Amino acid sequence: MVEWPEALPYVNLYMTTCVTYRDQPPLQTVLETVVKRLNAKNSIEALAGAQAGNVDDMMDMIFRTCTGCGAGKDYDQALLLLMQLTDDANPLQLSRSRRARGFAIMAHMCFEEGFTPDRGTMNIDAVHRGAVLADVAAKLGFVAPIVLRIADVVERTGFRRPETCPAGHSAARFAELTDLWRVYDQRKAELERRDGARDAKMLAMPNRYFCAAEGCGIEATHGSALSSCAGKCKQDWKPSYCSKECQRKDWPRHKPFCKADGTPDPSIVALRERIIRGESEPGEREEPQAVPATSGFVQRTPEEIASGRHERRMNIGMPEGGGVTMSSSTMTPEFMRDVQYHLQRLMNGEES
Ligand SMILES: [Zn+2]
Ligand SMILES: [Zn+2]
Ligand SMILES: [Zn+2]
Repeated sequence: MVEWPEALPYVNLYMTTCVTYRDQPPLQTVLETVVKRLNAKNSIEALAGAQAGNVDDMMDMIFRTCTGCGAGKDYDQALLLLMQLTDDANPLQLSRSRRARGFAIMAHMCFEEGFTPDRGTMNIDAVHRGAVLADVAAKLGFVAPIVLRIADVVERTGFRRPETCPAGHSAARFAELTDLWRVYDQRKAELERRDGARDAKMLAMPNRYFCAAEGCGIEATHGSALSSCAGKCKQDWKPSYCSKECQRKDWPRHKPFCKADGTPDPSIVALRERIIRGESEPGEREEPQAVPATSGFVQRTPEEIASGRHERRMNIGMPEGGGVTMSSSTMTPEFMRDVQYHLQRLMNGEES
């Protein structure tokens, strides 16, 4: 039986290459689908399907052999399938979006090979190959998070422009990737507009954006993502929570301040002060703890989920340009933090 932590590299590759940054599905849904799939077929069956031209099996085998989930890592096999997937003369007559996903996966492979956090040791030729493939994906109209991530790294390391390009390197070969820069510049402008608006709102009402439970550390991307105390306390001092669990945990502390007379809640006072001082992180963040795989799943009835009342959506920070939306309707905060922890480790290259 494959359990969810083993499926994370597969899920990560899927989320960064095969869904656009706008349509990131809830992580829980993707995890469940992938775990189910890995348990339903072994790699021999999946490979047989891929070789018979079943496109779902092809994609599945590509993810397995790229990540080592549900099959041994085998880049040659992955590349062979990717070439078929992206070939526009392929008898399978695949759609543009399928082909674009293939290019995004190849871009990811090249980028992974070349990228290091230090520009001095970066294999810039491999990053350039990744950028060329990302440009093709962008040309086909498919903007996966990896496309934006590659552009972002190239810009931040100075390789995009002649003024900042390290000596001995050519900026021109990056600059000519016009589709890549078109989608990247567009997205950056969009993010700047959004962040500006969010920052202003957050400064005015930080208690709407941070879970008030001590040690939780969840920050919502929208003020409406958290649920506020339903008691009599005034808006300015009203704590918000990411989940019922956190609300319950914080109640003994908040209770004496939950009054209509405007008594300030000292914990909200402290949060405001930290935000005004420009500390983005509220207090200490609890170190994420590994939890057993099953404890993160909250049993909720379909009616409850459909009502949306329990749902809190949060964007979990992926590298620039990417984000993973998690839904609390099916997950406990502990589970969310655990997944976030594993994803961060994956992105730092500590887990593979
Ligand atoms: Zn919380
Ligand atoms: Zn209250
Ligand atoms: Zn864990």
